[in-house]
Amino acid sequence: MTDADALIIGAGHNGLACAAHLAAKGWKVAVFETADRPGGAVKTRELTAPGFKHDIAAMNLSLFAGSAFHRAYGSELAEYGLAFAPVSRPFASIFRDGSWLGVSTDMDETLGWIQARSLKDAETWKTLVAGFPKRADSLFSLLGSPMKKRAIARNFLAAFRREGVGGGRELLRFLLMSPRAWLDETFESAEMRTMLAAWGMHLDFAPDVAGGALFPYLEGMANQSFGMVIGKGGAETMITALTGMIEKRGGQVHCNARVERIETSGGKATGVVLADGRRFAARRAVIGSVAPKALAHLLPEGSGDRSFDAKMAAFRHAPGTMMLHLALDGLPDWPDAELKRFAYVHVAPDMDMMARAYADATAGLLAREPVLVVGQPTTVDPSRAPQDKHVLWVQVRMVPAIIEGDAAGEIEARDWDSVREIYAERVLDILERYAPGLRGKIIGKTAVSPLDLERGNANLVGGDQICGSHHLAQNFLFRPAPGFADWHTPVGNLHLVGAATWPGAGVGAGSGYMLACQLAGQ
Ligand SMILES: Cc1cc2nc3c(=O)[nH]c(=O)nc-3n(C[C@H](O)[C@H](O)[C@H](O)COP(=O)(O)OP(=O)(O)OC[C@H]3O[C@@H](n4cnc5c(N)ncnc54)[C@H](O)[C@@H]3O)c2cc1C
Repeated sequence: MTDADALIIGAGHNGLACAAHLAAKGWKVAVFETADRPGGAVKTRELTAPGFKHDIAAMNLSLFAGSAFHRAYGSELAEYGLAFAPVSRPFASIFRDGSWLGVSTDMDETLGWIQARSLKDAETWKTLVAGFPKRADSLFSLLGSPMKKRAIARNFLAAFRREGVGGGRELLRFLLMSPRAWLDETFESAEMRTMLAAWGMHLDFAPDVAGGALFPYLEGMANQSFGMVIGKGGAETMITALTGMIEKRGGQVHCNARVERIETSGGKATGVVLADGRRFAARRAVIGSVAPKALAHLLPEGSGDRSFDAKMAAFRHAPGTMMLHLALDGLPDWPDAELKRFAYVHVAPDMDMMARAYADATAGLLAREPVLVVGQPTTVDPSRAPQDKHVLWVQVRMVPAIIEGDAAGEIEARDWDSVREIYAERVLDILERYAPGLRGKIIGKTAVSPLDLERGNANLVGGDQICGSHHLAQNFLFRPAPGFADWHTPVGNLHLVGAATWPGAGVGAGSGYMLACQLAGQ
């Protein structure tokens, strides 16, 4: 049996960031990964045709670039190859009449586009952006803190001191609001509201879900203030760099190494057993970057706390995602060529269709009109495709894990392996409406169903790209479950990190890094 100070289950970026910090503090670490390569939901592959590099899942690395982990290790990560391609036109929305609205890091440009819709909204935007640094202090310190009573109280007190009693009360109210409630009371133009509401759909905040206003606000303000970044040559640049950091310090990243069981003794985690029978012992910690429901399998005799086991079994997943990756002869011919310059074009033309797409997916139906997040990475990073060619990254939000029916009444099949290509055609039909001639530009196409996403990464349960609903009852203090938002479990030395834990999904490395700091110091 081989041993290490910490054994980490899953080489997603949280597991890797955790291992990298522990290794930097002198811990001997070993990471185990089911797949043949590390990265989890951050991987880049030639999925369609030779020379076309597609981010199979995450493409937008702004959360990683702005993370505390990157602040601590940015220069070292750069030595191991981490490179970003900055985006000055992060996102836009296209509407049914072919018009559009977007956000550019050039404030005058953004204001010009908003003014064409509403002078009042342009003034509001200016005021919100000017107030963002103060608000960001309150919000980012909350999002970047462990969910422990003391830290929460400290954060709220600081927010009240910074913003005054009225401002603090307003902040609390804002955190509870749905996207639509906040957007309706803040902006008068329907297009402005729609453009921002689309960000809620990256998580599971459809327009009317309480607690969802935060994400459209943060994405709007952060993209305006700092822009977006994607990985140079592909998102996997961050995984290569993380792995390099770990291995340089003698840590090991084992691929094709699924953990089958966590071993315990005297109420403490002592090691892991791999599917191929190999055993590893942990001197100080076992850290699972797994979906909560997987614990039932990893700890067949339970954690010793029935209430915890029941909470993990009851963990709620969000509806799924389907991905459509295209290799193209040229970028889509949107009605206005300006749209070719945006990293994301949201094809989500009004809030009601977003609400319907979410309700359909939740009810098990294939939406007639899903929300499409159309990523155009080659507009800022041409290195991802052969000269003058492009890749398109199309995220289809949202789809059911288990298909009960089709909201359009056209698709008969109910299993994803049969539906995948048929539904991809529906997506292409929608895109053709907004960018005619797209089909004629396709060199290669790969559709990835929610089931395929889960086959490639067990944490994406039912294709749930955020590894668990972020609704209020399962977020903040309650993620992954009340009483366990600080990455501990009832089993001594066993910790949980990853998107299912606080602070949730995205590539911000928050849980992995915060736990590692908790275990080994800053
Ligand atoms: C399609 C899609 C698009 C996304 N787009 C973005 C985006 O643009 N920007 C953004 O910020 N976020 C995005 N996200 C979300 C983000 O990618 C994830 O929230 C994040 O990468 C999760 O990281 P993680 O460290 O929690 O684990 P994951 O990346 O999910 O990795 C977990 C790893 O654990 C492994 N594993 C699980 N069980 C075991 C076991 N028993 N033994 C060994 N290994 C195991 C899995 O194989 C996997 O590799 C997207 C997600 C998806 C799916």
